[in-house]
Order: sequence, then structure tokens, then C-alpha cells
Amino acid sequence: MSARAGGENGTAPEGEIPFQIAEAAGGFAVHPIHWSMAANISGLRCIYCDQGGPFTAEHVVPAGLGGDDSAWILRDCVCARCNTAVFSPLETKFLRASPLAYARLFLQPGTRKRSGARGAPSIQAAASFHHDLATGTLLEADMRAGGETHIWPQLIAGEPPTFRLYAKDQAAAKQLLDTILAAITADMVTVIEKRREGFEVILRHTPLNWDGTNYSCGVSFEQPTLAADFAVWLEPLGPPSTAKDQDATPMTSRLFMRASKQLNARADAADDVATILTVLRCNPLSQTSEGTMARTGEAHIHQSLTIDMDVHFRVLTKIGINVCAKLFGPDFVRAPAFSVAEDYARLGTGNIRRNFIGKMTPYGSMFGPSMPDHHVLAISTTKTPNGGTALVFAAQLYGAELTQMVCLAESPINFDPALNTVLLHVDYVNHRIRQLTLEEHTVAVVLAHPGIDPNDVPEA
Ligand SMILES: [Zn+2]
Repeated sequence: MSARAGGENGTAPEGEIPFQIAEAAGGFAVHPIHWSMAANISGLRCIYCDQGGPFTAEHVVPAGLGGDDSAWILRDCVCARCNTAVFSPLETKFLRASPLAYARLFLQPGTRKRSGARGAPSIQAAASFHHDLATGTLLEADMRAGGETHIWPQLIAGEPPTFRLYAKDQAAAKQLLDTILAAITADMVTVIEKRREGFEVILRHTPLNWDGTNYSCGVSFEQPTLAADFAVWLEPLGPPSTAKDQDATPMTSRLFMRASKQLNARADAADDVATILTVLRCNPLSQTSEGTMARTGEAHIHQSLTIDMDVHFRVLTKIGINVCAKLFGPDFVRAPAFSVAEDYARLGTGNIRRNFIGKMTPYGSMFGPSMPDHHVLAISTTKTPNGGTALVFAAQLYGAELTQMVCLAESPINFDPALNTVLLHVDYVNHRIRQLTLEEHTVAVVLAHPGIDPNDVPEA
């Protein structure tokens, strides 16, 4: 029996997973083999889960955070499983639903180095409404880069059979009306309600059947996948908890579309959607007024964001470990002392010290005044409250007053306790990362803030 290998000499073209089949007791087993016979075996294990490849390129600092710098990529360090299944969704939450999500929205122009408007940061809000002061209406809206309010096209029920149409322009209004027309031309429309049971998504389907004069609800059924030609996604009707009575008139049912182009209804139940569609089908849409363009100049936005602080610190921990792997090599972070931090980043298990120095010394001001358009990151050593030595990662993101800090490893560990602080300046506008000493950082801060006394830039 001849063994197949990814390459005769044990190497393989980049991107392919080399393998070999070896004869084993009772059969054959497939083992991953390494890219190069000369490579250090430990060099080809994921620094987070300690398993073999395939590996994916890993931004040391997430691209979405402004770190899309080709010189700061880890290769053959982080496996595709950790990258795709764990860190990608974690980073999305960190960037779009965390304490820094709004800072990012206002300050950072692009999520990638070369990105147009599509690459602008966004917020992952559980609910998002614009309060239109002219009419007292809560409109379906989104907040975009720079704080710009974006009004989704929507048809809001008024005194029957009237509706008010809101959209940012004629094209968006037409798209909504065309989609509604397509739906009410069909004799069966299905209302979909989405809910979660643990990790499972369940879609409740309620068919609305046209009997010549009305849409009426058929028998509902549930299944995990969508089974409908014309679906209207139902969302609960209710003002955000931040809206007070005097702020807005009560919310009324509406049909609207977001970027996904699916038709949504905000209503109490499938019955109400049937009523809306019946009114629309029986009263052909005619534009009797000029339509209302929402004024966004006096924007009042209601948004609710679910923030998971563990996600926040897990991502910070991962960035810290990535930075160490880049600066000191992947074997450095494979030391057992890092396993607590690695498990915390990857699995969310265990715990790490976070922000512990802030209680004893003004670590929050360690970096001095913020660097415009830059994050400041640092790897440093410090004493733990119980007298040990800790390797810490500190991050001042978007010029925040408070520096966030996580402990990556504690002694005993193979690092020089006198390790000089290493700083990184991450230019999140241009996606450039620069490594500096503390002295160079002080000079940069002084240059960025003419007139500042260098003594006001604290030293670590
Ligand atoms: Zn892994």
C-alpha cells in the first residue's frame, strides 16, 4: 500500500492541506502532516487551540478596528476553526455592539484599507428608531458613519385607509411600493415570525389567504427554514423603552424594508398584517400627497444595544496575544502561562485579571493625551496584587480616557520582567500600525499636542 502525501517531499502548494494516509492497526488513519519537513512541529499548531491547520491569515489588530496593515498579519498561527467559528463572530459583536461601537461609528471612515461606502462601520442595534419631530412619529431608521440618520422606506398606517410614506428618496420609496405591490398581487402571502430556542432559529409561518375580499390567516406551522414565496417578516409593535409619552405619538403598524430588501411588518400579530394588506389591496396605492421627507437635522435616535462585556474583554485578550505572537514569535505565546488567557479568548471560560492596576495607580492616563486618529496599544510587565509579575496588554481605543487592560500571563513565565514597554500606534483612518518605544511615544504625543509639557505625558 503506497502512502499518499500532499507532496513528494512533504511540502504542498500554499493553501492546500497536505495529508498522508498511514497504515495503522486495524485500518488506516489520516494524519495532518506539516508543510515543510524542516519546520518546527510546534510552529504549525494553532496558538489558541493547539490543533493543526488549515490556517488562515489573522490580522494582529482586527481590520474592522483599523488594523488592515499587510505588515501586521499572523500566518500559520491561527487555525481556520478558531478564526471563522469563534473570533469572527466575537469581533463583529466587539465592533458593532460594545462600548466602543459608537466611537468607531463616528471616528473611523472604513473597516478595510480599500473600502468604499460599503465598508463604513455600523451598529448592531436590537432596536433603532428615528423620532421625526415634525410628525411625532417613530420611524424605522439606522445610524450610520458620522452619526448620519438613515431612514428606511416605510409605509405607516394612519386613519384607515390612509398611510404615510417615508423614505430618504423617490427611488427608495418606489422600491418599497413595488415590493408591496408584488406581495398583494399574490393570493397567498406568508407572515414569518422568527424566534430563538437556545441556538436554534425557529420560523413560525402563518399563511394569509386571499378569498376575493379579504386576507385571512390560515393554519400556522413552525420549521427552521423559510418556505414561502411572498414572506412578510413580523416584528413586534411597541415603542422603544427610551421613548417617553411626550416624545412621540403611539406607534402604529407599518410595512418597511431594510438593507436586506425583505419586506417587514411591525404589527401586533399576523392578523394585523392581514388587515393592512387587505386595505392596501382594496385601495390601490395612489399618491395623494407629496409624501413626507423626514427631517434628519434634528435627529433624535432611539437605539438599544445589548453589550456583552465578556465579548469586549475576550477580544482585547486575543489582540494582546496576537500582538505578543507578532512581536516575540508564536512559540512565546505557546508557553503554558498563556493558556488561561488563550482559553478565555477562545472559549470564554475561566477568568483573567482585567483593569486591576486602575485601582492602584492611574494606569488610565499611562499613555498621556490621546493620539488623534490612533489607537495606542501596549505590552508591558507589572506587579500583580499578590506580588507576582504579570504580562499585560493595555489599549487606548479611539482616544478613550480610560485605558482598558487585560493580563495575558503571570509568572512563572519565560519573559524578562524588565521587558521594556512596547507600544503600537494603530492609525485607524489609514490602517497603518507602527511599533514604538515609550520614549518615541512621548515624542509623538508632544508633536500631536503642540504646547503640551512633556512632563504631562506620564511614564509607565
Ligand atoms: Zn485554533
